[in-house]
Amino acid sequence: MPEQEADSLLKKSFVEEVEKLSVWEELLKKSVVDVDQLAAICKGGIDKEKLNAVIKQYPMRINPYYLSLIKKKDDAIWKQCIPDLKEMDDPEGFEDPLCEERDSPVSGLTHRYPDRVLLLVCNQCAMYCRFCTRKRKVGDPFKRITKEQIMEGINYIKEHPEVRDVLLSGGDPLLLSDTYLEWILKEIRKIPHVEIIRIGTRVPCALPHRITPELCEMLKKYHPLYVNVHFAHPDEITELSSEACNMLSNAGIPLSSQTVLLKGINDDPEVMKILMQKLLQIRVRPYYIYQADMTKGINHFRTRVDKGFEVIKAIRGWTSGLAVPHFVIDTPGGGGKIPVLPNYIVEKDDNKIVLKNYAGKTYTYTEHC
Ligand SMILES: *Cc1c(COP(=O)(O)O)cnc(C)c1O
Ligand code: SF4
Repeated sequence: MPEQEADSLLKKSFVEEVEKLSVWEELLKKSVVDVDQLAAICKGGIDKEKLNAVIKQYPMRINPYYLSLIKKKDDAIWKQCIPDLKEMDDPEGFEDPLCEERDSPVSGLTHRYPDRVLLLVCNQCAMYCRFCTRKRKVGDPFKRITKEQIMEGINYIKEHPEVRDVLLSGGDPLLLSDTYLEWILKEIRKIPHVEIIRIGTRVPCALPHRITPELCEMLKKYHPLYVNVHFAHPDEITELSSEACNMLSNAGIPLSSQTVLLKGINDDPEVMKILMQKLLQIRVRPYYIYQADMTKGINHFRTRVDKGFEVIKAIRGWTSGLAVPHFVIDTPGGGGKIPVLPNYIVEKDDNKIVLKNYAGKTYTYTEHC
């Protein structure tokens, strides 16, 4: 496809219509959820019949804001949100590679680590990422999370004094209404042993309009509250997403990020370095880069682990230490997140350690005792 044509992949009428919308609920309602809509908006390149089969298995939702970030077919934004036939051809993957269900004492809560729990509060998202680890349940209307389930999770936390950190996740907790989310936060804050609350969300990236002054006013009543955002590519850092992060930061919420290493999207050390630097510019501290999980339907996004090492090597030392996240493998079988590092140790014995710096030079540190 010639470049000029590719630039106008989305029909002008659609782009104009979307630019007028600013209320997140309205934008969300205009999401593309079936192939006919997609074909009507995109000029060509959509095999309706084949994509329909994929969507039946794994729902599609692309809100118009995120869709508008696509510059051309098969770019980093396209690949994250447009279904691909390869999702149906993955004999290696597992529905629940991290065994979240096995480590779940009550539905929707995973208690894997000694002092913190993961509580799923919503199975909807502002868009469905094709590489989602919870592909087995996000967006499925039969797997909605009920108020009773959430209450059961909260009761579990009440009965477990060792839980000092609660992570709200999903789906995306920020797809809940302010009132409903506030109910959850208030209930959790009633528990004296819960020290911190974290929210994992893709909304500042995927539907920044959701970050309203009202939401920020509400959230800041529940400090210490941390938000972990999810960005995958520098093109996602726009004026609107920057402003959303700015608003959260101004509400006193420390922001960190997680990024999944994805083939064809961000498996390029230079792209990752730029992403991490741009995140710091919008006051988001890079936290994790994940090796892609062994989730069924996402095999085509998986890179080799060495690619992650290349990425870390290209960041550590070459740019601000603040830009360097932990590279982790969330291990199949429920072992949790394990950090992996490129090898900086050349040699180590009782008396000394020989190290290689970021630029490849070696240095020796002698042990004292
Ligand atoms: C990722 C995760 C956490 C939080 O891990 P941190 O390393 O503390 O950010 C907690 N519980 C589960 C089940 C998780 O997957
Ligand atoms: S926003 Fe998160 S939970 Fe939702 S589809 Fe994307 S990766 Fe999955």
